[in-house]
Amino acid sequence: MLSWLERNGGKTYGNFIGGKWEAGEGGTVPIFHAARRGQVLGYFPDSTEADVNRAVEAAHAAFRTWSATPAPDRAAILMKFADLLERDQEELAYRLSAEQGKTLSESRGEVLRAARETRFAAGEALRMAGDTLPGERARVETRTMRQPIGVVAAIAPWNFPVVTPVRKISPALAYGCTVVFKPATATPWATVKLMELYAEAGVPAGVVNLVIGSGSKIGDALVGHPLVAGISFTGSTAQGLRIQRMAAARLARTQLELGGKNPAIVLDYGDLAHAARQIVSAAFTCSGQRCTAISRVIVLRDKAEALKQELLAEMAKIKVGPAWDPEATMGPLINQAQLDTVLEYIRIGREEGARLLMGGEVLRDGEYAEGCYVTPALFDRVTPDMRIAREEIFGPVLCVLEAEDAESALRMANDSEYGLAAAVFTDRLADAVDFAERLQSGMVHINHGTASAVHAPFGGVKLSGYGPYSIGRSNLEFYTEMKVMYVQY
Ligand code: NAP
Repeated sequence: MLSWLERNGGKTYGNFIGGKWEAGEGGTVPIFHAARRGQVLGYFPDSTEADVNRAVEAAHAAFRTWSATPAPDRAAILMKFADLLERDQEELAYRLSAEQGKTLSESRGEVLRAARETRFAAGEALRMAGDTLPGERARVETRTMRQPIGVVAAIAPWNFPVVTPVRKISPALAYGCTVVFKPATATPWATVKLMELYAEAGVPAGVVNLVIGSGSKIGDALVGHPLVAGISFTGSTAQGLRIQRMAAARLARTQLELGGKNPAIVLDYGDLAHAARQIVSAAFTCSGQRCTAISRVIVLRDKAEALKQELLAEMAKIKVGPAWDPEATMGPLINQAQLDTVLEYIRIGREEGARLLMGGEVLRDGEYAEGCYVTPALFDRVTPDMRIAREEIFGPVLCVLEAEDAESALRMANDSEYGLAAAVFTDRLADAVDFAERLQSGMVHINHGTASAVHAPFGGVKLSGYGPYSIGRSNLEFYTEMKVMYVQY
């Protein structure tokens, strides 16, 4: 990986608009290696509103032909794209790990997942079915059909720089929409490669466009553009609310995937070692920088001590290191700002009276000095009113709260402004069903962590999301609109 980066780093990249690479109008900014702070991975556009406008116009111009392209042809192109992701898995993983920091095995898995989600989306192109309804009058047929909405603005954060763009672009293309994609400022490198692969797979010019630049500079131009019919946004709740307000002003539709404070509730469950394995994996994958990361463990008081021992044993197995270390199971945080946030929450947790049982130390020796490494942290003696129990930290910090009984555990779990994912560990079927029904979250996992499937709807309630869920069949509701047709014959 390192020699590949030496050979391939440091180039200048542009925006991909109307099938051509072009320099942005605002010059370029360097993007650095997450685990080698001094190494420039590339120079990327600092785009302007004019760049956004050109990209939206290109997507608008391409929509007519692309939406009329037969669904099997669109699906075939996406199937080819999925094959290309697998062919170039290693290069994509290198770029992803370098800019984001996650371990190579996580990055490889992310690329394969993007291929699998694309194949599911490709199949959906052929399922844009409507209903044929009995006529109300003689010789009048009535039917419904689904049509693509038009140009979609897709905006992603920096934690999954391959699968998040693909999760938006592939379904959009499957349903016949065209796209302008804006990656996070910190992670544009893998996305550039994705554009090359979509083009190589046969996606025509203008159907997918990439504009790289700062959200604070170009976000409003993209979200507010009158030719943008829908906005698929993944990121913080604060930005999501802002985008929702802007979109509502002109009735543009939105699909918002936002923050979370996801609980794992441990009730009467015999295999606490299994629960701990699932919780630790869900909490610390991607160094906890995951919307569905478990960040609160709510455990029955009489099980708490035993569970904490299992959690500590499981966390002790985590090896923090750079992506190219084959033994590393957790990479650095993406940048200094993220590390500062995590350390601030660890300080707050202590100040609030929680006990730091393990971790939370910054690693600075040797090659650790080149990245933002912190060891996975576990707090106990956490109470529901503490900020570390309420606010999204988006880092490797796990809090243990104790509950008297199942009912108070449920109350604690629901006592959050977020509602993305939740896990429940129980041997009692009645509790499993009861919690699945009463937990206020978009996704509930019984006896396993918060990993999601490539074909199941993905989304949240409360301040964790808005609009149709992504990934599964629910995407149809976002990328297409209904038309009702009456035919007299
Ligand atoms: P963020 O600050 O909201 O940024 C997300 C994206 O929005 C970035 O591309 C950002 O661009 C862009 N943006 C910033 N200002 C904008 C504006 N005025 N208009 C339009 N776009 C704008 O979030 P983040 O810190 O990158 O990501 C972490 C957050 O994402 C966490 O809250 C996490 O829970 C959430 N997340 C949710 C899911 C989910 O599926 N629910 C998945 C992953 C992450 P810049 O990078 O240029 O600022």
